[in-house]
Amino acid sequence: MSSKLKVGQLVMGNPQNLNPVDPREKLDLPSLGSMPQISGVGTSIVRIIAPNASHMTLDGTNTYLISDPISGSAVMIDPGPDSDSHLNSVRQVLIAHQVELVGILLTHHHLDHSETAAKWANLFGVGVSARREKLVLGPGKLLVEGDIIQLGSRHLQVIETPGHVDDHLGFIIDDEFLFTGDHILGRSTSVISYPDGNVEKYLDSLAKVKQIGPRTILPGHGPVVSESISTEVIDYYIAHRLYRIEQIISQLEANPVIGSDDLTRLIYGDALPEPLFLPAMQSTRAALKYLLEIGQVEADNRGRYRLSG
Ligand SMILES: [Zn+2]
Repeated sequence: MSSKLKVGQLVMGNPQNLNPVDPREKLDLPSLGSMPQISGVGTSIVRIIAPNASHMTLDGTNTYLISDPISGSAVMIDPGPDSDSHLNSVRQVLIAHQVELVGILLTHHHLDHSETAAKWANLFGVGVSARREKLVLGPGKLLVEGDIIQLGSRHLQVIETPGHVDDHLGFIIDDEFLFTGDHILGRSTSVISYPDGNVEKYLDSLAKVKQIGPRTILPGHGPVVSESISTEVIDYYIAHRLYRIEQIISQLEANPVIGSDDLTRLIYGDALPEPLFLPAMQSTRAALKYLLEIGQVEADNRGRYRLSG
C-alpha cells in the first residue's frame, strides 16, 4: 500500500462512505466472555485467557504457550497481567503437556500483555524477548524483523508490525500460525494508540501481513481468526481504518474548526460505550496527526483542526 494517501484514494471502492462490514459477522463466533479459559488452538499451541476482561481487552488477554513435544520445551507469548490464578493456569498447562518454559516473548509493551513478564521470567528462570530494549530481560534478546526463534524442531519468525504502538511485533510459527497481538484482534477492531501509535505504519503493517498470505490468526484478544477468512478480515481492517480517516475529513468539511474530542463524538456517535471514548479519541488523534503530516489538515494553537487550503 502506498502510504501517502489522498482523500480521493480513501473513498475509492467505498463511494457512499459506508462503514465496512466485519466479515466475521456472518460467522458463529463464541459470544464475548464465553470462550473456554484454556484451550488448544493449534498444533501444540494452548491459549490461556487472563482474568482481565474489559471493553479494551475483550474476553481478556490471550496468553499463548507454544510447545515442542520432542525437546519438551515451550515459549510463551504475552504473559499478560499479574494474576495468581493466571499463573496457576499456565503452570497447569505446562505440567499437563510435560514441557518446560524456556522463554517469554512480548508482542508489545502495553501492560495487559507485559505486566507480569519480569515477575514470571524470574519465577521460571527464563528471559524476556521484545522489540523494546527496556522490556528485554536475562537471556532474552531484542527482537527485530526476520529473527528466527528456534524451539526444538519448530521455529518462530519475528515480523515487525508497528502502528498500534511502535514496538509491536507479530510472530509466525511453522509458516502456519500468525500471532498478531493487538495489531489484529479476534473480534471488532483495534485502536491506534496516541502518541505512540501511527496510522500510516498501522496500515503498512496490515498490508505486510496480508502479503504473507492467509494464515490462522491467533490474536492478543478474542477468538481465533481462521485461515479461510484471515485475508478478508485484514481487508476489513484496512477499509475500516480508511473509513475512519474519511469520516474525519467529512466532519471537518461540515464543522470547519473543531477539537479532537468533539470530532470523536461526532464520528463514533452515542453508541460508543463511555470506557471506549478515550481509546477512540486516541485513534482520532493518531489519524489527525497523519492528516497533518500529509498536509490535508491544519491545527491552530488551541488544538482545533480544519482542512487545509
Ligand atoms: Zn492488548
